[in-house]
Amino acid sequence: MLTTEISPETRQLLAEINDWTIAEVRPRAREADDTQAFPADTDEVLAKCPVKHSPLDFRYSGPGHTDDPQVLKKLEGGGALLGLLVMEEMCYGDGWGWQGLPGNNLGERAVRLLGSPEQVEKWADGTLRGEYKFTSICMTEDHCGSDLSQIRTSAVRDGDHWILNGQKRFISHGSTSDYLVVFAQTEPGAGLKGLRAFIVDRQDAGLRTTKFTEDKLGQRWYPQATIEFENLVLAEDRRLPSNDFGQIMAIMNGTRPHCAAQGLGMARGSLDYAWNWVQEHDKGYSSRRRDRLVEDVAEMRHALDRVRALVLRAGWIHDRGEASATAAHMAKAYALPVLEAVTFRAMQMMGPAASSKEHLIEKWYRDVKFLDIVEGTGQLHRIGVARARIGKAAATA
Ligand SMILES: Cc1cc2nc3c(=O)[nH]c(=O)nc-3n(C[C@H](O)[C@H](O)[C@H](O)COP(=O)(O)OP(=O)(O)OC[C@H]3O[C@@H](n4cnc5c(N)ncnc54)[C@H](O)[C@@H]3O)c2cc1C
Repeated sequence: MLTTEISPETRQLLAEINDWTIAEVRPRAREADDTQAFPADTDEVLAKCPVKHSPLDFRYSGPGHTDDPQVLKKLEGGGALLGLLVMEEMCYGDGWGWQGLPGNNLGERAVRLLGSPEQVEKWADGTLRGEYKFTSICMTEDHCGSDLSQIRTSAVRDGDHWILNGQKRFISHGSTSDYLVVFAQTEPGAGLKGLRAFIVDRQDAGLRTTKFTEDKLGQRWYPQATIEFENLVLAEDRRLPSNDFGQIMAIMNGTRPHCAAQGLGMARGSLDYAWNWVQEHDKGYSSRRRDRLVEDVAEMRHALDRVRALVLRAGWIHDRGEASATAAHMAKAYALPVLEAVTFRAMQMMGPAASSKEHLIEKWYRDVKFLDIVEGTGQLHRIGVARARIGKAAATA
């Protein structure tokens, strides 16, 4: 049975993370937004972080909080559930801190799900051994993201090798990752059937980063690159054998609820910030207006609790090893509109002050908003839920 009871050890860990995001991450948030980069002293900030791995990585590597197996055992809920609790807390002060930690690796996930045992040992386990810090997944192109059957990047067999040509856009950490898992079409006109994934090493000749990052609305410290492949030669052992579309989509079953958990931390942080500000600034509100605000805050906290239940449910199912595509769709589909609305209402409570760069709340609103797009848009996830409930007739993708 799903229980959200949290052990004293986990509570302690979450409190330490919360302190860290307030003391270390939040004060550098404006710099990260303005410069579109991790702050200059990121390494020192991360050295003080109570966890040493990205929460995305907990399923495999543990929280990195301690090496004491007794403590690890007591961190209930297994990797994914704990990771989601930690993710919310890490984003409470601001969202940039967790992105600097190692293990933020969709590329690694792809190899683990689609790769041969030898590829998993070398490339996926290599991230756990610390041989690779960042890895990326390259699906999106200028003209397509949701519909992968439209991918134009091509891989053409040439004897024992494959020749890769094409361009990918919006690739997270694409400019710095140690390897990239690139989806390419191997049979022109075959759509999803011809789709295959290839491991491209950062050092491979023919790989070019043409744009380091996008100048975007939110989460501006988090780089999305444009990458080109020109006659890049790959040996057969770089092709991931599986082309099971269900498995391809499953790469993000574990990480999609994390998009909601990030937004949850940011929305909760925004609400607390705005409410504290309102209380500190006596604006001479009538008692009726004040009562209305208190009611609004209570409703928003309740909305955040409902989102958390969806998010943790997805993590719990994931930890049980069950097929969790629908739970992941639900967490991402229904959380983000609520989180955006909470952050927006929190801004409204502060009045015009919220639009000033003196406060981070305008930034948090921008950061939350973009989470609806990354890892599949809300519409697509709502279609996924509808199809799981009432079959394919629910919607055509
Ligand atoms: C910050 C950021 C990081 C990203 N990181 C990566 C990454 O690391 N790797 C990667 O490969 N990509 C990445 N992306 C790209 C992202 O995955 C795509 O933007 C996303 O999947 C949407 O695809 P699209 O942009 O082509 O939109 P489209 O597919 O063109 O969709 C446009 C709009 O149409 C809607 N829509 C599409 N199909 C349907 C339908 N059947 N029914 C109803 N509505 C529909 C969508 O919901 C959306 O609102 C990133 C994007 C951002 C913004």
